[in-house]
Amino acid sequence: MCGAIANSLLPRGGDNGVVPSESALADGRPIAFDGLELIVRLSPRRTRLGLTLERDGSILLRVPPGCGLDRAEAFIRGNRPWIESKSRLRADRAPAQAVRDLSEGEIHRYLGREYRLHLVDESDAPTRLTGGRLQLSRAVAADPVLARADLAAWYCQAGRRWATNRVQPWAARMDVPELPIEVRDVGRRWGTYRSTPSGPGRIALHWAVFQLPTRLVDYVIAHELAHVRIAGHGTTYWRLLAQALPECASLKQELDEMGRRVWLGDLAAR
Ligand SMILES: [Zn+2]
Repeated sequence: MCGAIANSLLPRGGDNGVVPSESALADGRPIAFDGLELIVRLSPRRTRLGLTLERDGSILLRVPPGCGLDRAEAFIRGNRPWIESKSRLRADRAPAQAVRDLSEGEIHRYLGREYRLHLVDESDAPTRLTGGRLQLSRAVAADPVLARADLAAWYCQAGRRWATNRVQPWAARMDVPELPIEVRDVGRRWGTYRSTPSGPGRIALHWAVFQLPTRLVDYVIAHELAHVRIAGHGTTYWRLLAQALPECASLKQELDEMGRRVWLGDLAAR
């Protein structure tokens, strides 16, 4: 029985008391609420709602038959602290690196947003964001070496284009020259700054950085630009960075946490 939701199931504006079937949650269907995505599991024997955090990080919402969206949303709202603490715990224990298998619909990230992978049959189709999805040729996806190189190249190209416009404001705040930005694989670091004898030096960012939200990419850019003036991470370095970016300490912490789960090009064995 789902008595408490009887009211919430009344058709909006309806007057005959008939519960429309579309109001009840359907088994297996995802529902989005307040930035969360949950998958509905309908259990015929349940009378109350429940939540389960799955190993892969997905959240199952277990509902009794006939449970409506309003009741589900109230339940999710009431259990938000639980969801967040469990998700954080799971994230802390997650393996240091994400692995992708490049299947249709797989989630990939660019500048903090999620894009589902869309495999297309045209072998010469360019890798790009289109129609809200990340398009990849099926032939490329089938070859792990090619696919990794192709996706990394796409992040390099898109990331460089985006980052180029971000350098000027940070450089102006720290009174350093506007350096050109390279985007490539820089190993285990997010970015590097190399001084050159003849000029102001060069900055390189890891292509994987561009999966992160823009505030964290900005942090990496500002971090490397501050090295133009001060090498190393001593007190004067952090003082300079904090002048340009007052929230740098919390952004660094966020980068440390989120960075552990960024995809660095590892593909699942097939
Ligand atoms: Zn540094």
